[in-house]
Amino acid sequence: MNRGSFIRNSLLMLGAGPFAKALKIDRNGLLNARLGEQLHEAMYYRPTQHGVKCTLCPEICGVHATKEGNCRVRYFSNGKLYTRGYGNPVHVAVTKPEKVSISSYLKGQDVLLIGTGGCNLHCLFCNVSAASQGNYGDLKTQSLQPDEVIELALRKSVKGIVYGYTEPVVFYEYMLHIARLARQKGLKNLMTTNGYINPEPLSGIIEYLDAVVVDVKGFSDATYQRLASGIIVPVFDTIRMLHSRNVHLEISHLLVPGWTDDLALLQKMGEWMTKEGLQQVPFHINRFRPSYKLHQLQAATDDQLQAARRVLQSAGLLHTDTVLS
Ligand code: SF4
Repeated sequence: MNRGSFIRNSLLMLGAGPFAKALKIDRNGLLNARLGEQLHEAMYYRPTQHGVKCTLCPEICGVHATKEGNCRVRYFSNGKLYTRGYGNPVHVAVTKPEKVSISSYLKGQDVLLIGTGGCNLHCLFCNVSAASQGNYGDLKTQSLQPDEVIELALRKSVKGIVYGYTEPVVFYEYMLHIARLARQKGLKNLMTTNGYINPEPLSGIIEYLDAVVVDVKGFSDATYQRLASGIIVPVFDTIRMLHSRNVHLEISHLLVPGWTDDLALLQKMGEWMTKEGLQQVPFHINRFRPSYKLHQLQAATDDQLQAARRVLQSAGLLHTDTVLS
């Protein structure tokens, strides 16, 4: 029996009986305990009549006893909102910034990449869908508290920590606590994000962020909704705020044929960045390869990537490149 089945069976056995009621163990609290996590309360939420509303990201999920957040990380238990993403990463590895689309910060240096399960968007092309879209209880996680992450980073002699692999917004509290400790130890904090976060939590962590790459999924609300189940305006707000606070900023974009390769929309994106004074910000156009729910599509061609690059350059962007891998 795998761990997911074990948890589910345990829930059924205990949750259905008087024992669970007597101990006031609800389903989510029990799952959490089985995962071996420390209960960790979320930072951004407010109470509602039937549960809470999470205010971390623009989804503003209503979360209650029978419904977890859209990211599957945040859940309700005994009147509070908790996060499963604290101290339970699914991925920890030494890498280089340029391998996670940060081309001009700590280039060539070792950094520690860390990510948990879950995501607040649901991209049809996600290449880590098992971790981002699966049930948390089914994921293979390891127990690693923030101070242990720092110890590991120092032991590996890396220059910084990258919050990414999956979407770091959904493990906000974990990221924040690691980032504070990292800053104290002279380690840099890098983040690869979809930028889908509300202004208040972003402003709560921005002082610890040294470099951020925002992955812009498309250039219209219609594309965002169909491709990623989100909207675009909060992403633009995030880009503006990072730039205004002098965080090293880069943009990445996956060129998905038939979905995000509309040259007129790319032109508008370039013009918007130029208008916002973002001409110097590196813009990486990544090649789409068939994946997840878009496995039937063809990979983007060199010609499509180059056409996109020329449009962005003509709109005034000074540092564009194509990533062919
Ligand atoms: S972080 Fe998760 S629970 Fe909170 S609003 Fe976003 S998707 Fe919903």
